[in-house]
Amino acid sequence: MSKILVFGHKNPDTDSICSALVKEKFEKNNGLDIEAVRLGNINKETKYVLNYLNIEEPRYIESIDDEQEVILVDHNEFTQSVNNIENAKIKKVVDHHRICEFKTAEPLYYLAEPVGCTSTILYKEFKRNNMQIERKEAILMLSAIISDTLLFKSPTCTEDDKLAAKDLASIANIDVEKYGLEMLKAGTDLSDLTELELINLDAKEVMLKNSKAIIAQVNTASIEDMMKRKDKIEEEMKKVIEEKNLDIFFFAITDIINSNSQAIVLGKKAYITESAYNVKLENNTAFLKGVVSRKKQIIPVLMEQE
Ligand code: MN
Ligand code: MN
Repeated sequence: MSKILVFGHKNPDTDSICSALVKEKFEKNNGLDIEAVRLGNINKETKYVLNYLNIEEPRYIESIDDEQEVILVDHNEFTQSVNNIENAKIKKVVDHHRICEFKTAEPLYYLAEPVGCTSTILYKEFKRNNMQIERKEAILMLSAIISDTLLFKSPTCTEDDKLAAKDLASIANIDVEKYGLEMLKAGTDLSDLTELELINLDAKEVMLKNSKAIIAQVNTASIEDMMKRKDKIEEEMKKVIEEKNLDIFFFAITDIINSNSQAIVLGKKAYITESAYNVKLENNTAFLKGVVSRKKQIIPVLMEQE
């Protein structure tokens, strides 16, 4: 039997990479033959973490063989998973997203909690199993929590995330604010990305009620700088809309300093943005005060307006 593979979603973020590495360690401790892999390029924020720890990027895979045994972290929707996931044997899932169009042939472990980060659930799993957390895993989990909660400022952040981060920071002996800001800042350096890369960096394909959507997001320290590239960004968004036959492409440029987003929205259902946020789209764009979380403040809000 080949190795079990553990991975997060396509267009991986820090939680998807770090949680896969941590889950690999946890399962290895339990004697499983397992490898953490990734479904896309590593972003700069995650690179900062891996460099800090001086560890290698997980191996990239594009698809899997039929019957491959897998563990999913930080996602469950098949549209966000590896190609051929329909024919995999999903052994476990650890996730903090809505569950959507998920189906298996066999029973499985499914750990889901509505917390701010997959790594928070993994942290609790270590604790429940009385398994010691080493410095490397502590920093991986802490980084994922900082990333997903935007240093505890996102409305998705729960008391559990804060408690986990506090304990992990003490294990790692690290100054969370200082390390966290540097890590988040490393992720906002997007100057060398093309517009196509920008809209793909953290893009998720999701089904709203009846609409095929991509909700993409980038973190920035300056919305204004990013908006200088608006025309070219829109050009690339239009191409993707046509290629994938999307009803709506929602691109959120999130100011991680002030916790707001500027949305660029295209597609025949772009208009739902207006009633969803009580704004007017002008030149396909609107400022969304206080909106930072795709999971809590974008996907469900758009769904309600359909
Ligand atoms: Mn994620
Ligand atoms: Mn996550």
